[in-house]
Amino acid sequence: MTADVLSGTELAAALHARTARRAAGSAERGHPPRLVVVLATGEESTAWYVRSIARAAGRVGIDCTVVDVGAAATTEEIRAVLDRLAVDDAVHGIILQTPLPPGVEVADLVGSIPPGKDVDGAGPQSLGRLVCGWPGFAPATARAVVEVLDHAGHDLAGRHVVVVGRSTVVGKPLAHLLLDRDATVTVCHSRTKSLAEHTRTADVLVAAAGRIGLITADHVRPGAIVVDVGTNSTLDGRLVGDVDARTVPGVAGALTPVPGGVGPVTTALLLEHTVTAALAAAGPSATQEGP
Ligand code: NAD
Repeated sequence: MTADVLSGTELAAALHARTARRAAGSAERGHPPRLVVVLATGEESTAWYVRSIARAAGRVGIDCTVVDVGAAATTEEIRAVLDRLAVDDAVHGIILQTPLPPGVEVADLVGSIPPGKDVDGAGPQSLGRLVCGWPGFAPATARAVVEVLDHAGHDLAGRHVVVVGRSTVVGKPLAHLLLDRDATVTVCHSRTKSLAEHTRTADVLVAAAGRIGLITADHVRPGAIVVDVGTNSTLDGRLVGDVDARTVPGVAGALTPVPGGVGPVTTALLLEHTVTAALAAAGPSATQEGP
């Protein structure tokens, strides 16, 4: 058996096409969508990721500015930038890109992003609304996992989904999105004992641990759907997931590739959220334009 490939590129292209149309509509109403990414690291891989978001934004008619505050920025300096962006009516989406400088905590800063501009769902209000099942921006990567499964026609109701990883960015918000879709959810993490015993019970297994090769064929029930969120750099500079791409395709029923799986859909959803925020700023008649 060879697993079906659950590519994210076709879905991302469809999302981008819709976002471009909505971005044009928002611009016509006097709100050209604008996204600002605040960067505070010298890490080249992060800077590359942010540049890739900016390029994708430009292609769909979203102005994306990167504010690089430098790897030595303090909490106060970054908060001052966020506070300025928060009250700037021309800015619709704000992302505080991690990692942050040593000693600077995300938790001390994300609350400065107004929920209406929190397009990566990182702040306490966005996450609180997600837990309650209320409308708001969910973290884009967590949403991307659900969108990839939806796009492939996999109904989640009543399915057992095992999520490996409990971060605030991926694992925890994903668990709530899955519960909202009537899945039965198990969340595993670094202190989980006998990981494979849990993962082998999954109809859908989501790997979001950031560990190369963590999920092998032994972790997968034959025929299970496997979503690989991991994006890890190998020593020779390749991008690989958490799933062992040599053994798992022989067992799984379907598997997302890395790259080309969850990643492009994450970017597409960040941009979708930005246009949704811009349309909301444009007023009620514009927001009726549709999702
Ligand atoms: P994180 O380091 O914040 O969290 C990792 C989680 O995995 C933790 O909850 C930890 O308990 C768990 N974990 C670590 N080792 C484990 C083990 N051996 N067994 C079981 N659980 C283990 O990372 P994150 O920010 O949640 O990101 C996870 C991965 O997803 C990374 O590879 C990251 O690069 C990737 N990511 C991808 C996208 C995308 O768009 N594709 C976006 C965000 C993150």
